[in-house]
Amino acid sequence: MYLKSLTVKGFKSFASTTTLRLEPGITCVVGPNGSGKSNVVDAIAWVLGEHSAKALRGGKMEDVIFAGTAGRAPLGRAEVTLTIDNTDGALPIDYTEVSITRRMFRSGESEYEINGNSCRLLDIQELLSDSGIGREMHVIVGQGQLDAVLHAKPEDRRAFIEEAAGVLKHRKRKEKALRKLDAMQTNLNRLTDLTAELR
Ligand code: ATP
Repeated sequence: MYLKSLTVKGFKSFASTTTLRLEPGITCVVGPNGSGKSNVVDAIAWVLGEHSAKALRGGKMEDVIFAGTAGRAPLGRAEVTLTIDNTDGALPIDYTEVSITRRMFRSGESEYEINGNSCRLLDIQELLSDSGIGREMHVIVGQGQLDAVLHAKPEDRRAFIEEAAGVLKHRKRKEKALRKLDAMQTNLNRLTDLTAELR
């Protein structure tokens, strides 16, 4: 599995449709200061469901939509598509290529698609949850974050490593299972009360 391409349109400094084709291995993006290198990384985080404007270096989520320049009017929506090569079947879906799309309008409304079919963000999160990529999986290491890891307290550093190792999804599943058990216990208690009343 590897990232095959990224298409951005109306996202931050990318007003026109721009496609970056990626190969397996290391890709370097070079360019002058302010040319949009970090915006490429922001686009990847955003399409994977990032919903913190701060994490995307903005004040509010609409800041991701192209705001216009001296020669070009602002746009009404941002759209990013990330295409993942799935020939090794790492993603649990019967396609050798998986495209994930997120579209956002100035109203704040977001739409998501998997291979062109409308879906919920939850469907995307579930699809990616076993692959190690996703919003909370630490696959994107931002500027200054390495320093934060190196200077973190041992227990915080352990938390970073656990998340990167994929422990997070198991912790979430455990929490979900515990919530279900809790609800079940409440139902059982209620049943016991009702049975006692009927006796
Ligand atoms: P550096 O090397 O300094 O880190 P960079 O190449 O990573 O820079 P970015 O931070 O990705 O650059 O891009 C910054 C540019 O993106 C700025 O020129 C900014 O005006 C532009 N930009 C950000 N959001 C928008 C937006 N919504 N509409 C238009 N342009 C935007």
